[in-house]
Amino acid sequence: MSAQVIDGRACARALKESVAAAIEQLREGGARTGLATVMVGNGYSSAAYERRLRRLASDLDVAYFPCHLPATVSQDDLVSAVSGLNAAPDVSGILVLRPLPGHISEAAVFQSIDPVKDIEAVHPENAGRLALGVPRYVPSTAASAFHLLDKWLDSVGEDRTAFYHRSLVVVVGRSSNVGKPAVSLACDRQAAVESVDEWASRTGSLGRHTRRADVLIVAAGRPGLIGAEHVSDRAVVIDVGINPRPGPGGRNRMVGDVDYEAVAARVRAITPVPGGVGPVTDVWLLRNTAAAARALSARERNGATLLLSSLELP
Ligand code: NAD
Repeated sequence: MSAQVIDGRACARALKESVAAAIEQLREGGARTGLATVMVGNGYSSAAYERRLRRLASDLDVAYFPCHLPATVSQDDLVSAVSGLNAAPDVSGILVLRPLPGHISEAAVFQSIDPVKDIEAVHPENAGRLALGVPRYVPSTAASAFHLLDKWLDSVGEDRTAFYHRSLVVVVGRSSNVGKPAVSLACDRQAAVESVDEWASRTGSLGRHTRRADVLIVAAGRPGLIGAEHVSDRAVVIDVGINPRPGPGGRNRMVGDVDYEAVAARVRAITPVPGGVGPVTDVWLLRNTAAAARALSARERNGATLLLSSLELP
């Protein structure tokens, strides 16, 4: 048996059209959609992400404000840079790219972001809202994993609600930016949920969890972590991992956390890398940036603080 391939690029194209329409509508209503990224140092993955966002913002005619700071920047200067973006009227969304250097407290930087501009929900207020099931913004990677799942379920004619209610979702990796939000989203869908991290691998129990999964979301940053022996033939596999590996001609190529050939030969459906979660994540971030423009505009007009339920874009 060979898995159905869940095409992230096609899904991203469709999403991009709806985000473009929403941004246009916001513009007509006087709301300004603008994305600011803050990059400290020049890490390979952050720089590649920043280039993709710059291109996408340009395609969508969204103002883009890149802020580059040296790896030696002090925490106070980094927080001041974020405060400047909080005050900038043309910036609706702020993304602080990870990783930050070891001398910087991520928590202090995230806490300095205006919660209404915090499009990755890293401020404790937004992370708390997500955990409580009343999000202001859903972090783009976890949102994209479930968007791909939902669209795939639609494409095969399965009822989303019934599917999640009877499914076990296993999430490999428990970071605050991907694994934990994915667990929250699976809980919101009333699925049975298991979260495993590197201790499951160290103790040899990873496969015992993953083989039971109806949906397996893998976000560990370990190329080839999941092989054919870790999955069942009913699994739908969402590979979040993006790992640079030296390719031909000295150029890097990206591989996921899943051994694609081996796993695709066994499971029901799978996302490839590249071309799976990544392209959708990029567009989702712009979607959140547009939602933030709507929220800021409401705050300016009448002091209202909107939640996701009232921020939904078409
Ligand atoms: P992270 O390093 O912050 O967290 C990794 C998590 O995986 C931790 O909970 C860790 O305990 C767990 N882990 C590590 N080794 C493991 C193992 N052997 N077995 C089981 N669990 C293990 O990473 P992150 O920011 O969550 O990112 C994870 C991966 O997802 C990376 O490859 C990253 O590049 C990728 N990523 C992709 C997107 C996208 O849009 N597709 C977005 C963000 C991150």
